[in-house]
Amino acid sequence: MEISKRFQISTLIAWIVIVPPGIFLAFRLFPSIEIEWLNLSILFALLFVTMIMPLQLKKITVSFERWITFTIFFQYGVFAEMAFMQIALLILVFSTKSDLPLLHRFFVNSLIFTLVSLASGTLFHYAGGVIGSTDFLDICLFGLVYAISYSVINSVLMQLYLYFEIGIYSFREKFVGWDFASTMLLLPFSISLYFLNLQFGNHAIFLIGIPFLLVLLIARMYNRSDNLNDKLSSAGIIGRELAERLGFEDVIRTFIQKLEDVVPYDNAYVLDLRNGEHLITLMASENGVITKNMNGLSFNLEKTVDDGLDTDNPKIFSTKKEAKTLNNFKFLQSVESVMTAPIKRNQKTEGFLILTSKRKNVFQAMEMKIVDVLTGYFAISLVKARYYEKTVEQSERCGLTKLHNFRYLDAKLDEEIIRFHTGDINSLAVLILDIDHFKLINDTHGHQSGNDLLKALARLLEPFVPMDATLSRYGGEEFVIVLPSYGKSETIQLAEEIRREVESSIFRIIPDLSKKREPVDVHMTVSIGVACVPEDAGDAKELLRNADRALYIGGKQAGRNKVGVYGEKEIVSI
Ligand code: GH3
Ligand code: MG
Ligand code: MG
Repeated sequence: MEISKRFQISTLIAWIVIVPPGIFLAFRLFPSIEIEWLNLSILFALLFVTMIMPLQLKKITVSFERWITFTIFFQYGVFAEMAFMQIALLILVFSTKSDLPLLHRFFVNSLIFTLVSLASGTLFHYAGGVIGSTDFLDICLFGLVYAISYSVINSVLMQLYLYFEIGIYSFREKFVGWDFASTMLLLPFSISLYFLNLQFGNHAIFLIGIPFLLVLLIARMYNRSDNLNDKLSSAGIIGRELAERLGFEDVIRTFIQKLEDVVPYDNAYVLDLRNGEHLITLMASENGVITKNMNGLSFNLEKTVDDGLDTDNPKIFSTKKEAKTLNNFKFLQSVESVMTAPIKRNQKTEGFLILTSKRKNVFQAMEMKIVDVLTGYFAISLVKARYYEKTVEQSERCGLTKLHNFRYLDAKLDEEIIRFHTGDINSLAVLILDIDHFKLINDTHGHQSGNDLLKALARLLEPFVPMDATLSRYGGEEFVIVLPSYGKSETIQLAEEIRREVESSIFRIIPDLSKKREPVDVHMTVSIGVACVPEDAGDAKELLRNADRALYIGGKQAGRNKVGVYGEKEIVSI
């Protein structure tokens, strides 16, 4: 059985064994003093309103119901307080939208409240506290004992719950700190309400009950705008970070990862929309892992008009049922809410962002607006990155053969030498190839045909280039292959294969000098020079120079159509 199932069943069993008998025990051990129903109803109303107005402080939710439950306790005892909490909890579960499962929302909370009330109520009694006492100092002193034990026991139980649910022990000092601080802050209010109640009866509510709720309401309004401010400033930071990224994939990765600071999603998908009709996944994040092979979403690659995906505005699907209207998309069974947002450039939708969560009602309208702004930044950053990558690519390629150019080769060779010196690779070889009598070919068939031959040779060489190796056009009719991890004999063998392949190939060209412009078959040969690190050189320049010498002496001087191999004493021709 999976852990969470087992945990759910144990929680339910624990609830059945502890909560009803616990309430019964409280009823028998600490019978309530005479109940005044109107007063109790007023307190209950205050309790309920307080419970639906928690504050969100960063990632912690702080709820202030204790200010009322403590009053109820001082006035009517453990049983009344416990019964009230259970009823309020039940009403809360059915009256408010929440993204948490019922198990957590009711059973876990109910269990923890019962245990905390029983334990701290017992401590209050054993310390000498008396329910309904009119002695100010008594209530202050034993109230303090009660409040401290209430907060401490609650924190311990929450901590244990987290340990059992997640299986890792992590002390949440922020949670514990807030719990304790808010309890201590609320205690004087409870005591005030209690004594005002004794003094003025139900009118006390006008002196402290309603004013307290109004202050809470203002705090909540401020809290909301504060949270919005936090999210907006995160959005600003994300925008700047996106603008700084130059790589296409880097932009997408940053966008997906940083979005989490603003929207609490589980999985995120960035889809490309090509020509307004083909959908392609660019990148996804599933449970915190960035991937291109996603498991949590499948869809038909052809986009249709009636697939439910809004191409103009972002949209929230708060429940499974609503998400079903996205009929081209199959989500995991566990997905409860979805947000979709078009990625637009120049009023044209170029892709989509899809966010999913295992929780219901998790995406808020405010977050959707921020996502809308961010997809705008994202679209611009993507265009810029694409443009940048293209420019870099062009500056590193030869326009004629489309092979890497000397600039790229130079940098690559330095990189490979570093890899050699850091022990990443054990050897490094280069092979320089020069066409024999190319000037003559140019003179015979024309410069244009010479260019065609260079292109044809480039295509012929490509299949010979191993995975990790780099082929580049070094100069006019010279090519270089950089071969990491290649030893001398392997390189000679490769050079030989290339030399033979060129020798036996027929290159068909249309000579630009002849008037008839009929195809002509041309034969060419190449001479090749080989040198290796560490045997023949210690750095990039020396390696190229020695390979060039091997080409000149072992290839050209030895009669051409040959492989020259650099050696410490002599250059051998093969
Ligand atoms: P060998 O290497 O066998 O000694 O003779 P070669 O004729 O190839 O000698 P060299 O290196 O002196 O001449 C290279 C020639 O390659 C000169 C030039 O006409 C030609 N060449 C260089 N770059 C290009 C190019 O981009 N296009 C064309 N068509 N020819 C080029
Ligand atoms: Mg040549
Ligand atoms: Mg040359």
